[in-house]
Amino acid sequence: MDSDKKAKLKAWHEQEKKKLLDSIPMSHADLRDLFALLDREDASPCDHTLRETIEFLEKRKLDVDKIVPWLQEHGGYCDCEVIYNVESEFGELIDDN
Ligand SMILES: [Zn+2]
Repeated sequence: MDSDKKAKLKAWHEQEKKKLLDSIPMSHADLRDLFALLDREDASPCDHTLRETIEFLEKRKLDVDKIVPWLQEHGGYCDCEVIYNVESEFGELIDDN
């Protein structure tokens, strides 16, 4: 691949990454904390709802009505899916921010 193509590809990736980051309806710190909470070692088994996620959002007075649809858009329909799907998509992206 010539360097011009490489640069374009890189720019495209950066753009896609930025789009994803801009779509997050909460601060990166809050999202990191949410992942850490759901992924903790003594977490109770998922009851196939977003119970813990919603508890966390309400405790922090975050916008549940905005954040839950966003999580679902990225495959997070219950607490464990937030880790499997959303964390795997966004975990690295928000790591260095
Ligand atoms: Zn689950």
